[in-house]
Amino acid sequence: MIVCNPNNPTATALPVETLYAWIGDIPVYPAASTYEFHGELTKLASNETPWEPNPKVIEAIAKASHDLNRYPDPSGTKLRQALSHRYDFPANQITLGNGSCEILLAAATAMLEPGAEIVYAWPSFSMYPHLAAMTGARAIEVPLTDDDTHDLTAMAREVTGATRMVIVCNPNNPTATALPVETLDTWIGDIPRHIAVILDEAYVEFATLQDPDASLDLLKRHNNLVLLRTFSKVYGLCGLRVGYALGSEQFKRACDVVRQPFSVNMLAQAAAAEALKHQDDIATRVERTVIERVHVESELQARGLATSDGEANFTWVDLGDHDEDAIMRGLGERGVIVRAGKDLGGPGHLRVTFGTRPENDRFLAALDATLAEI
Ligand code: PMP
Repeated sequence: MIVCNPNNPTATALPVETLYAWIGDIPVYPAASTYEFHGELTKLASNETPWEPNPKVIEAIAKASHDLNRYPDPSGTKLRQALSHRYDFPANQITLGNGSCEILLAAATAMLEPGAEIVYAWPSFSMYPHLAAMTGARAIEVPLTDDDTHDLTAMAREVTGATRMVIVCNPNNPTATALPVETLDTWIGDIPRHIAVILDEAYVEFATLQDPDASLDLLKRHNNLVLLRTFSKVYGLCGLRVGYALGSEQFKRACDVVRQPFSVNMLAQAAAAEALKHQDDIATRVERTVIERVHVESELQARGLATSDGEANFTWVDLGDHDEDAIMRGLGERGVIVRAGKDLGGPGHLRVTFGTRPENDRFLAALDATLAEI
């Protein structure tokens, strides 16, 4: 839609507030409040990994930086080939993005419009409401079950003739809970084939419930399925922004045509392709995260705070009768940044990312000090 303002030939004009009113309806991404703080911080708010990238990855970035006077490969050929090799999946069905967020936004731009519907669970990843608000589609938010997992039956009930996209976040952000692949397999089979099912697996590598690659098998049976993954979490490359989706050739084309070319920068492509070669490093990162998961969750439970049955690199803490604002304030004053549940659709909770052991122990000590004073 193009609005000529003032209009030629009538010279009439609309007020700016009328033109841009729809922007006011788009929720602002609830980024962690860590970037304006100058003291020493324990950053447990963004589900990042605490370890820097593999030294070989840093070398690959340095090497690629010599070519920065050139545009990056717009189709990310080498990275898609590396992913194709890693997953034994056709390169022409692999979409790259400037973070997996960009793929979500591109898919929404391509598939959603006013009158269309998108179904997802709530609370879940805070980008999903954007997809609807940005495109004018209707968001159908289906509450999680009492044990904080996706209510797949209720989600399927919400599918109508207007549904274009269904998203399942597995493991779910912010609750960290995951569903078994077999359950998803049967469920996806019941969703009409013309509806895109996006399985957002940003944290899948951390799950111990099943082999993280078990979901690859689903792609063979469901051609409306897209697996969305990222280099931001276990690979420790969120500062470079690179994500990918395994799906159909049509999905790749739809995303590629609606966004700017060259969106995945040269350093990101080189880093991600190198990172894939170091799966032993990934296994170590997962192992260390799982050790921290057990440590933090058992310490929280020992303090009478229930945690969800987590499968990710963060935990979802039920604060019971404790005051969420007071706890956030107390932790913040001690330099520990976590996420308030109320900002993520789950008041009365905290979402706490696992850091290194010293970071996690700083969080626990800050929590003890806060609980003692409120
Ligand atoms: N999906 C989920 C569930 C997430 O939590 C995140 C990051 N917070 C993303 C996708 C996006 O990650 P990125 O854009 O960094 O790949």
